[in-house]
Amino acid sequence: MNFEEKYSVLGKSLRSSLIRELLKYASVPNSISFGGGVPDPETFPRNELARIASEVIEKEYSYVLQYSTTEGDPELARQMVNLFDKIFGIKNLDVDNFMFTTGSQQALELAGKIFLDKDSIAIVENPFYLGAASAFKMQMSKFITIPIEDDGMNVDILERKLKDLDNKGLVKKVKFIYVIPNFHNPAGVTLSLEKRKRIIELAEKYDLLILEDDPYGLLRFEGEHIPSLFKLAGMERVVLLNTFSKILAPGLRIGAVAGDKEIVRKFVLAKQGTDLCSSALTQRIAARYLERYDLIQQITPTIKLYKSKKDTMMKAFDEYFSDIKGIKWINPKGGLFTWVTLPEGFDTMEMFEFAKEKLVFYIPGQAFTPDDSPSPSMRMSYCLPPHEKIIEGVKRLKEVIITYGKSKGLI
Ligand SMILES: *Cc1c(COP(=O)(O)O)cnc(C)c1O
Repeated sequence: MNFEEKYSVLGKSLRSSLIRELLKYASVPNSISFGGGVPDPETFPRNELARIASEVIEKEYSYVLQYSTTEGDPELARQMVNLFDKIFGIKNLDVDNFMFTTGSQQALELAGKIFLDKDSIAIVENPFYLGAASAFKMQMSKFITIPIEDDGMNVDILERKLKDLDNKGLVKKVKFIYVIPNFHNPAGVTLSLEKRKRIIELAEKYDLLILEDDPYGLLRFEGEHIPSLFKLAGMERVVLLNTFSKILAPGLRIGAVAGDKEIVRKFVLAKQGTDLCSSALTQRIAARYLERYDLIQQITPTIKLYKSKKDTMMKAFDEYFSDIKGIKWINPKGGLFTWVTLPEGFDTMEMFEFAKEKLVFYIPGQAFTPDDSPSPSMRMSYCLPPHEKIIEGVKRLKEVIITYGKSKGLI
């Protein structure tokens, strides 16, 4: 059968992601990969989770092994209400302001479904988080991309583009502004308080919704926590996506949507058609975990571990990259990623062939451009390789940059 003829327009448009293709190489022996975007398994509280899992299966089997409601575990929602109060000082929430999804990836997909039509516009950042890109692309709507600077989205450009859309009578087509405020994936940067306020002002001026995706906010290495757009603007304006993937374990597949009850209700209706409900088992495990342990205390060693690896990488950059003219990197204040930008003319996708030879891996910036255009940048994660491999990997990468740069007459 010619399967191609049977696929929908959407089905035909689906392609294997660049990252999938690239990371195939990273498993070659003796290779060092900064490409992965996943947490270190040693940070998962496996003993605690194993005990709780066994307990809830034995004692709460009629709930945890059964179908559950689409909105998710009310016990977990109660824990989230407490957590938001205790950690973020957000007091006006109740359980109906939350729903749980199968990872926040599902929340992104549902957001696409409930907000975007083919002629809609989503405002997104450049670089663009791949998971959101693949979720929103399902709706085949249009993107307007706003470049990211060291303190987050370039709000001047955002303002100009919105004004332009307004002049053309198109601003009503803009359904939301999608923003990753803390320790951006892939850009590593954090949106400043001032810019958060300006984005909110613009959203109010043009009556736009903000979709705030914050998987890393609690993984801060240093400095003060900056209030979320959700806290600053309130839930009439902002839908907040959270996840347990980076602070507990991604295998639980639990994301949380926090927002106005009416919008949360709409997410629930959309989720019904997708998977009926998320796993009651993993949600109840998370609920009991939060009930029993102090989350902030529990993630302190994780933060320490990532910070020390980040410091090792920054030191290695200082040592090996400082004499490459025009190179730039982000020193992230939290999260899993740094973003390295090579001098003009470099193409990190093309350079990947050289990196393969030296057995060092990163994700070329091109993977995060909305239109698949060449990029001089690359995403590097420090969270998985041990310290000595981080140093060795940066050393190899330096050789890659020099060899590639010379072959192109760039340095
Ligand atoms: C990891 C990540 C997510 C969360 O994915 P899950 O589906 O919850 O595992 C969402 N957004 C960004 C930007 C991420 O980096």
